[in-house]
Amino acid sequence: MTDLYQKLLMEHSHHPRNFRKADHANRTAEASNPLCGDRVALYVELEGGIIEDISFQGEGCAILRAATSMMTEAVKGKSTADAQRLVGLFHCLVTGQDEVESEELGALAAFGSVRYYPARIKCATLGWHTLRAALEGKGATVPAD
Ligand code: ZN
Repeated sequence: MTDLYQKLLMEHSHHPRNFRKADHANRTAEASNPLCGDRVALYVELEGGIIEDISFQGEGCAILRAATSMMTEAVKGKSTADAQRLVGLFHCLVTGQDEVESEELGALAAFGSVRYYPARIKCATLGWHTLRAALEGKGATVPAD
């Protein structure tokens, strides 16, 4: 992991963005990763198929906080289809299943090296799985991988 990426992750884990409960959320979902003690609750305000607002609360390790913080920044203002696509790309990135064009992921490419730490993959993807569940209106969920 480059220094730049490491700094970015540290910064987000110490100062998570959109770390609050959204007052006007119409989609929510919660998930937890018992292995690490990570818990996340996601609040999405969906308006005409666009993610107008998104925020999260919870507790967990630095990777969970950084990944979920950066996820909220990445998908805010996007359509549900674009957000779902990003969920898939991010999943490929951190699991290393497929090579992912890093331009599409922008700063999220910082999580590329998580694939070398299998125990941390769930920490990075937990918030993203929760987003997918919220967008699909499924409520509480447990990540499949
Ligand atoms: Zn964790």
